[in-house]
Amino acid sequence: MVRESMMQPPAPGDENDVALRPKRIADMIGQREVIEVLQIAIDAAKKRDEPLGHVLFDGPPGLGKTTFATCIPRELDVPVQMASGPALKAPKDIIPYLTNLEDRSVLFIDEIHRLPKAVEEYLYTAMEDFRIDIVLGEGVSARTLNLQLKPFTLIGATTRAGMLSGPLRDRFQIREHLGFYTDSELTAIVRTNARKLDLAITDDAAEEIARRSRGTPRVANNRLLWVRDYALAKSDGRVTLDIVHRAMKMTGIDRLGLDRQDRKYLDTLIRVFGGGPAGIEAIAHTINVPSDTLVDEVEPFLLRSELIIRTTRGRCATPRAFEHLNVVPPAPSTGRDGQLPLFPES
Ligand code: ADP
Repeated sequence: MVRESMMQPPAPGDENDVALRPKRIADMIGQREVIEVLQIAIDAAKKRDEPLGHVLFDGPPGLGKTTFATCIPRELDVPVQMASGPALKAPKDIIPYLTNLEDRSVLFIDEIHRLPKAVEEYLYTAMEDFRIDIVLGEGVSARTLNLQLKPFTLIGATTRAGMLSGPLRDRFQIREHLGFYTDSELTAIVRTNARKLDLAITDDAAEEIARRSRGTPRVANNRLLWVRDYALAKSDGRVTLDIVHRAMKMTGIDRLGLDRQDRKYLDTLIRVFGGGPAGIEAIAHTINVPSDTLVDEVEPFLLRSELIIRTTRGRCATPRAFEHLNVVPPAPSTGRDGQLPLFPES
């Protein structure tokens, strides 16, 4: 049994998140290749009676990293502790988690790329040899205590695999990238979650919510919950295609699933920067949103939708983006400004 008591309590308003989150890996939809790898590794770890190798998940927010991190311990039948990179400011912050570990239990660190260097280095021996050094006392009377830890599995999640240092990344035996979901996978998630919420929904309404969910289960859940509320307030509670269209229109979510922030980004890139190239910091300052948020939460879907490209000289809007915002693209450059051609970022 997974002892949930060791997990952080959900933040207020997270009840729906807990209710909709799959409990077992078999209940998860999509990510078939990742699931196959994990199931083999979990099976082997159980047969060998050893902890599962450390696992690193990377990918944009809302794609299932935390869900995997809560399902894996259930498959292993071990407890899990949840921690977050930014909250672990110094090695002393991570010591309680490490000393609380039970044999083969799981420690999940979300946003692991935000661990300070000192904490990251402290993790090296913990991950590799299941031991840590604790310094007791101060100054000349300081002593170092070498502490043996219980064999455990670290699960790290990051939206920025590129920001992880090589030594940390190399200490994860299993590294999996979570990609965006297809419309049909999201439709299946919407249908399953409508059932969990006891909500009547037509097939075309479920497909429409999926299409407008930016390839992301968390977004699909949020859209579904909003549409449910809208159906209750404005109709008889049943979710039809018409209800989805009206609910989406009211919150400014367009047919590609872009929300107001996504469109503001595109609009700024096109109208203020003439379609680019524009640096991310310049865009972030103009729309007053932190550049990290744009890089982690806005750009991955715009890139995947071929609405923007990242080049060595900055971000550029594609003809598709101009078309989507109903703006006539400028005539192609003849090179008269002597600028270098744009190369995709490597
Ligand atoms: P991340 O940690 O990557 O930001 P989460 O794991 O918190 O994302 O996922 C957000 C929500 O999306 C979860 O609460 C869950 O309801 C849903 N979800 C994520 N992945 C899946 C999946 N593969 N199948 C079904 N629902 C999923």
